[in-house]
Amino acid sequence: MTDSIIDYKNNIFAIDAHYWRPLRAALHFIVENGRAAIIDAGSNDSLPYVLRALNQLGLTPEAVDYVILTHVHLDHAGGAGLLMRHLPNARLVVHPRGARHMIDPAKLVAGATLVYGAEAMRRLYGEILPVPKERLIEAPHETIINLAGRELLCLDTPGHAKHHITIVDRQSASVFTGDVFGVSYRDLDTDGRQFVFPTTSPVQFDPEAAHASIGLICSLAPKVVYQTHFSELRDVPAQAEHLRRMIDAHAAIARRAGSLDPAERLKGIRADLTRLLLDEAGRFGCRLEPEQILAVWRTDINMNAKGLAVWIDKRNS
Ligand SMILES: [Zn+2]
Repeated sequence: MTDSIIDYKNNIFAIDAHYWRPLRAALHFIVENGRAAIIDAGSNDSLPYVLRALNQLGLTPEAVDYVILTHVHLDHAGGAGLLMRHLPNARLVVHPRGARHMIDPAKLVAGATLVYGAEAMRRLYGEILPVPKERLIEAPHETIINLAGRELLCLDTPGHAKHHITIVDRQSASVFTGDVFGVSYRDLDTDGRQFVFPTTSPVQFDPEAAHASIGLICSLAPKVVYQTHFSELRDVPAQAEHLRRMIDAHAAIARRAGSLDPAERLKGIRADLTRLLLDEAGRFGCRLEPEQILAVWRTDINMNAKGLAVWIDKRNS
């Protein structure tokens, strides 16, 4: 599907952001009365796919009223500056903690370079362009964005990052959860079921906040959630329960590694996470070989390990 639009009905659509590899990140479109909101911006590489999708939906770039960022990690926000230059009427909706990083991305780029390394930064993200202040809408908890009469409610949902919002579309009883409701790659789907796993990437993972945010999302009783990685997740209450267990398992792994020598810590966490992933995928009934599973998840495991190491360091300091 990497080059077609997924139509979820209710005027909700998804495309592959073409971030890094196919089917790693999705961008979602909500359309109402000929006006559009795009949830997350992907990277600079996503631009042609966004413009093509608009065209296929019968919309012009002028018809986009909002680009809403779930958070400002670069796989979600790295392409925002470039995208906004092509959408003349759009406002960029962002958590108050993320706004200044969109106006001046220097700190964001420096932080991401520490996580990814300079070479990967250039390859994955290119030049991160700023967004003019006057085009930004800061969205504190319970901000309502009006898309041609369709109300989109923004909720403050920390846990993955402190600058994270979840967007609620009551009209379709669905929520757009960015990374706070975990990640579920379609590669692991088995017998129509979906495998979900947390993302604890650096530097603001907070398990208690993640539990609270998952509770808040579940309290809305959504029919489905739309994750950035990768799109529609069904069977929400059961997935939430699994995700909560996995968050606790991540935190436990980090706590155990907290007493290790710093040089050994990251390696130890990575080994434990790899075991956790393979055990859980097995329990889930996944029929892929361990190497195939790791080919899909290795980068996520590395990122999760780094994020957990940062978290446990902060806790212990
Ligand atoms: Zn992400």
